Amino acid sequence: MVENLHPNLAPMYEEVLERNPGEKEYHQAVYEVIHSLNPIAGQRSEYMQWSILRRMCEPERQIIFRVPWTDDEGNVRINRGYRVEVNSALGPFKGGLRFHPSVNLSIVKFLGFEQVYKNALTGMPIGGGKGGSNFDPKGRSDAEVMRFCQSFMTELYRHIGEYTDVPAGDIGVGSREIGYLFGQYKRITNRYESGTITGKGLTWGGSRVRTEATGYGTVYFVKEMLADAGDDLDGKRVVVSGSGNVAIYAIEKAAQLGATVVACSDSNGFVVDEQGLDVELLREVKEKRRERLTAYAEARGGSVRHVTDGSIWSVPCDVALPCATQNELDGQAARTLIDNGVRVVAEGANMPCTPEAVHLFQESHVLFAPGKASNAGGVATSALEMQQNASRDTWSFEATDTRLEEIMTGIHRRVVETAEEYGQPGDYVAGANLASYMKVADAMVALGVV
Ligand code: NDP
Repeated sequence: MVENLHPNLAPMYEEVLERNPGEKEYHQAVYEVIHSLNPIAGQRSEYMQWSILRRMCEPERQIIFRVPWTDDEGNVRINRGYRVEVNSALGPFKGGLRFHPSVNLSIVKFLGFEQVYKNALTGMPIGGGKGGSNFDPKGRSDAEVMRFCQSFMTELYRHIGEYTDVPAGDIGVGSREIGYLFGQYKRITNRYESGTITGKGLTWGGSRVRTEATGYGTVYFVKEMLADAGDDLDGKRVVVSGSGNVAIYAIEKAAQLGATVVACSDSNGFVVDEQGLDVELLREVKEKRRERLTAYAEARGGSVRHVTDGSIWSVPCDVALPCATQNELDGQAARTLIDNGVRVVAEGANMPCTPEAVHLFQESHVLFAPGKASNAGGVATSALEMQQNASRDTWSFEATDTRLEEIMTGIHRRVVETAEEYGQPGDYVAGANLASYMKVADAMVALGVV
């Protein structure tokens, strides 16, 4: 891998490997960005000065803490909490919290690193960070989730704030968890600081469209990719992995724009619904009843298949939207999608495609959008939530949705133009990484060595 990097960049990547041993997801995310910098590594040396890249690869602050809580049987449980504040050159650290048993320092660092560049692409004044815990909310009662969130915030509160670091949701952290976290923050600080956390409920400082934003935004991005190719979503067959927040609203928006979404998944398997997924039923099963996709298949009956062995990416489609988790779409899955004629792949999740899969898509001229561009609608709408909180205002659904679509169109244009400018037309990965890197680097140069 190192041999594919410009001689000015290779030693920096080697240093990252050495300073962060064993953190494979973090290495993967850093490599992707560094690799995209090849075109400027020689010519545009101001972006390499003052160890800008070295500083970008060393988070500003990494916090790891114990989270003790009591389960419903009275047993004391211990989890590990994280907040990694990666870069605040453009604004306060901003990024979600993930509660999932797989969470570790490498995953939080990769997510925080990606977040810096994603946030820069939105054009909003926000830096990047990420956090979470290896706590698994699945199967836990509301009371247990509340006690966990309260304990988590009892440490986290001292590190966050409207002008410091603004967390939000991610896998396993939805409006229920955000409510308990914000409630404890308010209690400890004795301040109703709405702008300290985003993803809030509509009656207590949340923004309309925040729930829908990541999924809708991903589909708005796909709409732009297809429009550039003289096409649209009408009549397309779409497959979406996951069935959480991002997946559900990607499915809803794709269907609204005339596509038929035929499959989605959870960690136990996937459903194939040739008539097109019933989003209302999906929301009822996943959001309200917190049940598995088997319940969706049972409720829908007859024509729906629930598959527990095999990959959702074996379902033929024109557009594939991986919206579950990192590295869920590998080289083999990419080959199957390509053989089945996929035309567009856009990441709703963070880094769901392995480097091999990305390479295969690009080599086969499949339009491929990296998550830091295509799923940026969520954090962009979080920034809109912060704007509404700061001005003590609330915007209508239509106004906020229009703003989201404009932001996604703007990101698409910036990415496409940057890729062209640096001689890599059609390469969304290079366009996204170069545009965002230069934006963050410009600010870091201006702010000096801090
Ligand atoms: P949710 O918790 O709402 O849903 C996650 C979905 O992915 C679930 O269907 C879950 O299945 C599945 N999933 C999670 N982990 C695994 C795994 N290890 N293997 C298989 N399936 C898995 O999370 P979100 O929808 O919020 O997040 C999905 C992705 O989108 C993540 O990568 C996140 O970082 C990214 N993202 C989210 C944003 C947001 O606004 N929410 C913003 C930008 C990116 P199961 O229920 O079985 O666990």
